[in-house]
Amino acid sequence: QFPFGRRLPCDIYWHGVSFHDSNIFSGQVNKFPGMTETVRKITLSRAMRTMRDLFPLEYNFYPRSWILPEELPLFVAEVRTMKDSNPSWKPTFIVKPDGGCQGDGIYLIKDPSDIRLTGSIQSRPAVVQEYICKPLLVDKLKFDIRLYVLLKSLEPLEIYIAKDGLSRFCTEPYQEPTLKNLHQVFMHLTNYSLNIHSGNFVHSASANTGSKRTFSSILCRLSSRGADVKKLWSDIISLVIKTIIALTPELKVYYQSDIPAGKPGPTCFQILGFDILLMKDLKPVLLEVNANPSMRIEHEQELSPGVFENVPSPVDEKVKVAVIRDTLRLMDPQKKKRKD
Ligand code: ADP
Repeated sequence: QFPFGRRLPCDIYWHGVSFHDSNIFSGQVNKFPGMTETVRKITLSRAMRTMRDLFPLEYNFYPRSWILPEELPLFVAEVRTMKDSNPSWKPTFIVKPDGGCQGDGIYLIKDPSDIRLTGSIQSRPAVVQEYICKPLLVDKLKFDIRLYVLLKSLEPLEIYIAKDGLSRFCTEPYQEPTLKNLHQVFMHLTNYSLNIHSGNFVHSASANTGSKRTFSSILCRLSSRGADVKKLWSDIISLVIKTIIALTPELKVYYQSDIPAGKPGPTCFQILGFDILLMKDLKPVLLEVNANPSMRIEHEQELSPGVFENVPSPVDEKVKVAVIRDTLRLMDPQKKKRKD
């Protein structure tokens, strides 16, 4: 660790938050320049829209989204047209502030004229998105999947997906959104940081119980119910690859500006967190990409009122240790030298 700056060149540099060191001339850095900006909600939505316009069938795994405030008139007009052509369509929308995380500032609305929307967007740019009303439920609860993806290189494009991930559960039984339950975050939002405050949150002692489980345990369960798990994996892999392809033009611009070709500089790699929701029919939907996914393998436990202690979280440990271990193995400079 070099809290006050580094003196000797290293093989691998592991930065905590983002690519920020212009004094690295060799080795490998665990962040791409511009990744944080590229995966922000608005930029991601824009990239997905561009690709969806070009390849509508290939890019139908991202919910229809509008960027606010600039696309508010378009949002209102498109929803009106869709409602006119299909009067039985009763949509719900989710509003997410740009740059927000951990469910911060997110709310659901039933109609574009909702006062919360018109009131808040002038002060905070956001993405408004079609809400997936029929997610797959396990134990009557909504959950999402966090998968870890290693972008090993941009050119050539090399992507690795960890075989196990996390499934993060809501803590109130799911009901399709109605005006009455729209505000119930423990029912609609799967964020760990929110649900941990619910009295129903269960710290998982094993991989297949509690509010945070391994994705492999969910797959086992689905497979025992007769689901086509192989097809699900192949859909997820294709979602990940297509998403990264959509992000590469912007990433290459940042890369070439920070590390111009021909000048000495490091190569980059990065672990990304993909948040994916499964629909009832097992179709995976991309929710967001995280440039700086949490690698914590402990959680806080309240021993007595106001007294907290960090205790190991076996589920986090199982998944995340494997991700870091395999990343270091893949990036091993000795292996690269041997290959060269
Ligand atoms: P944040 O970065 O604040 O966590 P997300 O985009 O991940 O924002 O959304 C937070 C949570 O809201 C997700 O974990 C998921 O449970 C729910 N969610 C987000 N988008 C949708 C959607 N389009 N349909 C259904 N649920 C969604």
